[in-house]
Formats: sequence, C-alpha cells, structure tokens
Amino acid sequence: MKKLLTPFLALFAAAASAAPGGGAVCFTFDDYHGENWLAADALFKKYNAHATFMISGEITDAKAAVMKQLQQRGHSIGLHTVHHRDATTFIQKYGEEWYFENEVAPQLDACKKHGIRVSSFAYPNNRRDERTDALMWKHFNYLRAGWGKAKKPLYFPLDKIEKQMVLGGGGIGTYYNTKVEDLKKLLDKAARTGSVIVFFSHNIAPGAERIHMPTEVLQELLEHAAKLNLRVAGFDELPNLKTTGN
Ligand SMILES: [Zn+2]
Repeated sequence: MKKLLTPFLALFAAAASAAPGGGAVCFTFDDYHGENWLAADALFKKYNAHATFMISGEITDAKAAVMKQLQQRGHSIGLHTVHHRDATTFIQKYGEEWYFENEVAPQLDACKKHGIRVSSFAYPNNRRDERTDALMWKHFNYLRAGWGKAKKPLYFPLDKIEKQMVLGGGGIGTYYNTKVEDLKKLLDKAARTGSVIVFFSHNIAPGAERIHMPTEVLQELLEHAAKLNLRVAGFDELPNLKTTGN
C-alpha cells in the first residue's frame, strides 16, 4: 500500500506546484522614478515578483547606476525615449533616422556603456503604428503600447508569446479610473486563460494619485496574483515563461 501511495503523492505534489492555467501579469512603470522604484523592490521581492521599468530622459551615470541595481534585482529594463516625443508624429514629420538618432540611440549607447541589457521599449503616450513598430523591432523585442481607444483589456496567451511583439497594457492610477476590484478580475481572467496581461503606471508611492501606482494597490494586486499562482514577470522573462510554462 505504502509503495503504491508514494508515487501517487509525488505526482499529486508536482501537479499542485504547477499553476493551473499558468498565465502572467507584467507591471510596467514609465518615465523615471528611480529612488521610489528601488524602494518598492522589497515589496516585489516579498512576492517573488519582477516588473519592467521604462526609462525616459538622458541616462546619466547616476541614473544608469539605479537601472543597473533594478536589473540586478531581477527586473527588466526598457527604454522610453530621451524627450518623450510621440513616435508616430515625429517619424511622420522627420523620418525614422531622425527619430532614432534623437530619441533612442543616446539611451541605447548609455546602456551599452554601462552594461545594461535592454530588449523592450515603451512608446511615449502609447502612440504607435506599423511604421514605428518596424523601426523599433530592429532594436527591441517587446514594444509596450496601450489598450487602444476602446480601452478593451488585451490578453496574450502564454503559448503564443513570440520573440517580438507589441504588448498593449492598461493604465493603473486614479487618472485611468482603475478600481482594485476590477483589476483583480482582470488577473483572474489571465490566470484562467493562461494569458499574459500587461499594465502600465509611473511612480510607486503610498497614496499616489493621477497616473501613479499607489503602493497599497500594488501590494493588493501582488497578493492576489500570488493567490492565483499567476506569475509576475518582467518582459525579459516572457520567452522563458513560455518554454517553462505549464
Ligand atoms: Zn511616459
């Protein structure tokens, strides 16, 4: 009896440790709030969670040091342009080369100099089209945009995650009228359907308003994701999640 039971229990334990349905949530944070992002790392760590930080502005040595620390703690680093200019409008006006040289190349050069790996990009104001994607895919794998005009939540099945993709996300903050109960339901669906859902916000601080993530909301969502066995991953981890997916 005992002999029969042991393999059965082992099998059961293996099945229980695998997330039913799988799925993941990617929290992305735009612009630059380095000190507060670093401070929020303890919260991510508590839940074995990682985020993606999308950096705008000149990448000074001080900024690069913060980016490096975030990366060393397992988070993904993406770029978000030097001057936060809309890719669509400025590429139409001045062309791909001008946009790349002025908005992207200086940031990429700084990352190279400081040994920071970068494979994702967040569009300023989420504005993109096929022409901007074609340019950005020469340099990045994952392009973060929004949910579009209809603000309809997008789910990306984990088994259909490609090497290069546009990943549309929804904003979190009072400006976007998000309610934590509604956000939890979106996480439920991602877990149920084995999909990736993406969000964006900016600063992370207690009681933050407007376009920023209140620490309390982040905590509640991380707690909920943990209950669902929904992985909280940075963009750089996505290809790996796909292959180790369950
Ligand atoms: Zn921005």
